[in-house]
Amino acid sequence: MLVNAKEMLLKAREEGYAVGQFNINNLEWTKAIIETAQENNSPVILGVSEGAGKYMGGFKTVVGMVNGMLEELNITVPVAIHLDHGSFEGAKSAMQAGFSSVMFDGSHYQIDENITKTLDIIEIANENNISVEAEVGSIGGEEDGVVGAGEVADPNECKKIADLGVSMLAAGIGNIHGKYPENWTGLNFDVLKQIQDITSGMPLVLHGGTGIPNDMVTESISLGVSKINVNTECQIVFTEATRIYFEEGKDKVGKGFDPRKVLAPGYQAIKDVVKEKMELFGSINKA
Ligand SMILES: [Zn+2]
Repeated sequence: MLVNAKEMLLKAREEGYAVGQFNINNLEWTKAIIETAQENNSPVILGVSEGAGKYMGGFKTVVGMVNGMLEELNITVPVAIHLDHGSFEGAKSAMQAGFSSVMFDGSHYQIDENITKTLDIIEIANENNISVEAEVGSIGGEEDGVVGAGEVADPNECKKIADLGVSMLAAGIGNIHGKYPENWTGLNFDVLKQIQDITSGMPLVLHGGTGIPNDMVTESISLGVSKINVNTECQIVFTEATRIYFEEGKDKVGKGFDPRKVLAPGYQAIKDVVKEKMELFGSINKA
């Protein structure tokens, strides 16, 4: 069932677990994630970056594919299609295409401009029953050349953005996209606690879920994190499983060249990671 992410995250916030956002890249990923959610009776958020949306043939294609699957696979658990790190224009076009949730990432603007643009997005979202994620304190990543600690958000700026009426808030607390460097100093729980206190009840979002040690994940959930983004890990296991298929020469045996056979191990690898994360986040049987 396609829903916005607001209610599922408020329930998670209240009951002390987190909902996973798993980014999708194609049909196999989408099906693997949706089916795993259904099998484990878990809510789920499908993350779509602007680049992945373009890759899959556009936002409308993504919405059509997901809606078709929800119907034909008899999916009854809550599923949201969420734009990940959307630009201002990207968020507007995703909403127009039928996304049930969008992130407007205005973290690279000055706080005042971030506020004005976030308000514009919220207005359109409210008219269409769409949830909105905003970001304060940009989250680092390898692509930005960041090593060591990621940026840490200012709790007062978090409150300003939370008070605008967003459904969820991403705040940098030392988390990083992609693989974590060896000298990473860990999550800043003092700041997370301050953000939780000052934004009372707002579901918080943890980006860069790949590579954060399990005990840190659990502690962040206890401090108000209700949505955790997982992307890199699915990419790594998918590619690894696919590589092994070729290394073992399975493509040369019988009809091993059939693309459905080639992609099957990667599909299963994604399912395994998604289930493992749902167990860690505590979202199983919470649909
Ligand atoms: Zn992110």
